[in-house]
Amino acid sequence: MIIYSHQFIDGAWRLSNSTDALDVVSSATEEVFGRVPRGNASDVDLAVTAARAAFDGVWGRATVAARVDWLEKLAVEMKTRVPAIAVAIAHEVGTAHGYATKVQAEFPVSMIGANARYIHEARLEEELGNSLIVKEPVGVVGCITPWNYPLHQVVCKMAPALAAGCTVVLKPAELAPLSAFMLAEAAHEVSLPAGVLNIVSGPGRVVGEAIVGHPDVDMVSFTGSLAAGRRVGSLAGDGIKKVCLELGGKSAFIVLDDAPFEKAVAAGVNNCMQNSGQTCSAWTRMLVPRARHDEVAELAAAQLAKLTLGDPFDPATRLGPLASAAQRDTVLDYIETGKREGATLVAGGGRPAQLGTGYFVEPTIFADVAPGMTIAREEIFGPVLSIMPCDTEADAVRIANDSIYGLAGGVWAGTKERAMEVARRMRTGQVDINGGRFNILAPFGGYKKSGIGREIGPLALEEFFQLKAIQQ
Ligand code: NAD
Repeated sequence: MIIYSHQFIDGAWRLSNSTDALDVVSSATEEVFGRVPRGNASDVDLAVTAARAAFDGVWGRATVAARVDWLEKLAVEMKTRVPAIAVAIAHEVGTAHGYATKVQAEFPVSMIGANARYIHEARLEEELGNSLIVKEPVGVVGCITPWNYPLHQVVCKMAPALAAGCTVVLKPAELAPLSAFMLAEAAHEVSLPAGVLNIVSGPGRVVGEAIVGHPDVDMVSFTGSLAAGRRVGSLAGDGIKKVCLELGGKSAFIVLDDAPFEKAVAAGVNNCMQNSGQTCSAWTRMLVPRARHDEVAELAAAQLAKLTLGDPFDPATRLGPLASAAQRDTVLDYIETGKREGATLVAGGGRPAQLGTGYFVEPTIFADVAPGMTIAREEIFGPVLSIMPCDTEADAVRIANDSIYGLAGGVWAGTKERAMEVARRMRTGQVDINGGRFNILAPFGGYKKSGIGREIGPLALEEFFQLKAIQQ
């Protein structure tokens, strides 16, 4: 058991004002393997008071060089925790352990050091006419994060916020809070000044809303579902607070008629299934020429068969269980809806008979999916791919953009020029063309109901600044 009995507030471990706890359940064994406090509004008040004092005091006065130094120390300390973080997240989320080590632990830890470099290189003042334009930190930032890439999403907010000179009150996800507490341990170990980073675990409705509504919180950075994002956005609006929202997605991957089909379809399936489909940017809609639709369905099924479903700690496993029983049931409901609405089931379609324990769902492919079907429109957040036939390139772009979301996407064409031209017409925050790789420097975030604001890379720092103009 991994037990954290205290919240991390004002540089110290403090007993929560509530005596209740949140159990953390392993998605593979279905057993409780961790516990954190179930905090409440008075924990939040203490944390915000500490963050405000640190912003007005030690962190507000710290030079950029000093902040760089703290972030680098934190990154070094977190590196020693990579193995423990990977094990915790493999249990919490069900991510295969090897992938969890790289993507859930090493990658976010490396982003802490990267943000030290970004602020070191940032231009914080410039002259414009007779004005000096100064970038100043926004203040106290409330960060609220989801469970699917739990440390990554914490670091995406915490690291640029601290680098910019803000202080943070963080509420991690109920299902996957342990890596945030490991971050608090690291902050404690390197003696990060008291109040700069505070962590309060607990339910969204209680702890999350107390953070968003607190008068001393200047900005809210939220990642999660559209429904919770709406609530957070309207509460933040009431308080005239700056708000960043990183919400859901229903991303499209367009395979054009001159693409190398075998390669493109394999890449599309892998993208959709990463982290068992529990990825906001996953390409869950594959848009293909109608004349090649059946061939694509066969290629997709062949690629899916290579992704072994199993225990996250078995080295052969590519896809683990889903994060919770509730998530499994939601995904199974969507699969039933897909069958009922007339999509053709190509692979998967239920619970795997051979895996009795763990929140497993078979990775599933539907073909002949029409744009109006529920599985083509709603975010499923599980291992379900919809293959959709299109008549022309223009039809594919129209269907890709026919979504309330606009987070990510992909295009594969015979030439870079053609893919680029289509990418420019997609209403979405990121597009990968012809197998373009993830770029740690590129801003990530959504158009439309996928959100407001950007995370990742040097441009993410901008979210945590406000501009002052001094006329001279
Ligand atoms: P969720 O909205 O249920 O919860 C996210 C966080 O918000 C949790 O910490 C939760 O406790 C908190 N919360 C819930 N209700 C709240 C409220 N009323 N006030 C304040 N806080 C509240 O989402 P989830 O199930 O944890 O995560 C899955 C969702 O996150 C998916 O929709 C996914 O697409 C999205 N997501 C988006 C991105 C992105 O970068 N755009 C990244 C990862 C996940």
